Amino acid sequence: AAKEEKKGTYRFYSSQYYEKIRSRLRLEQALALAIRNDEFVMHYQPRIATRTNKLAGMEALVRWAHPEQGFIPPNEFIPLAERTGLILPLGDLVISKVCAQLALWQREGGTVFPVSINVSARQFSEGRVSSHLASCLARYQVSSHLIEVELTESAMMGDLKTVQREIDALNQLGVKIHVDDFGTGYSSLSLLNQLKLDVLKIDRAFTAQLGSGREGEIFFRAIVSMAKALGMQVVAEGVETKEQLALLQTLDCDEIQGYLISAPLQAERMSALFRQDIFVM
Ligand code: C2E
Ligand code: MG
Ligand code: MG
Ligand code: MG
Repeated sequence: AAKEEKKGTYRFYSSQYYEKIRSRLRLEQALALAIRNDEFVMHYQPRIATRTNKLAGMEALVRWAHPEQGFIPPNEFIPLAERTGLILPLGDLVISKVCAQLALWQREGGTVFPVSINVSARQFSEGRVSSHLASCLARYQVSSHLIEVELTESAMMGDLKTVQREIDALNQLGVKIHVDDFGTGYSSLSLLNQLKLDVLKIDRAFTAQLGSGREGEIFFRAIVSMAKALGMQVVAEGVETKEQLALLQTLDCDEIQGYLISAPLQAERMSALFRQDIFVM
């Protein structure tokens, strides 16, 4: 009987294991199909200059507009896309969609603000971002100054030569590079200095610590002075309270982004903000 029980237990785990694989395969197939059918929409989250309270730019964030499940957030499919290589066609699609949107906004007239695009390590290391971006900018007649690229610290840690080459190619195009989620990875000061990066976006985990004691503030102050020494600008991510904003204003942080200003918005709602003069109180 013990033997049988053991066998049963084994089968139980085993079928659970295969169920997991099956559902992952289903998701992978669905994602591949969704890329082919373009079931994705970009949302845009504003960034505000801390000193003037004016709009400074925005970040493009992808959502899967699933026909049955509604908007699926990126954390639920980007990791799978990265593991399977689907991030390459998906990354191309994101770049195309942002350029098409910028072209639309340009045609509407008025001021258009720069958009930062998140890219994954794999896209970056194959030199694909600069080449696809260059062709989209030409196709949609969009100025390269309206595009910025967000790269996480871990994405910068790949083969240094390849990363350097791609950063050079983007700099050549006139595209600025932001280091995303800064503080959560292991990039060194010398790497930051060497790679010629333009903006540090401090991860929201550190913003969340502002206002609850001196430590968070000390950390921010140190990062800001380091960034300034390297000739970089600083953006604080995940600003949710007026208290955090007030502190950031005293810390010489250039720009802020977060729910206090606005959640990510659909394109039409974002462009309404282009005409708004001052943000927050
Ligand atoms: P991220 O680039 O660090 O983007 C910031 C995330 O924080 C966004 O989540 C945004 O909605 C959220 N956020 C903004 N303000 C606040 C706030 O005040 N509080 C809190 N709690 N959260 C805030 P989202 O849109 O779900 O994106 C998650 C991540 O998915 C992004 O993190 C980025 O790493 C990745 N991602 C998004 N779009 C793309 C894309 O087009 N390509 C690639 N490769 N990755 C993307
Ligand atoms: Mg980002
Ligand atoms: Mg981030
Ligand atoms: Mg992130």
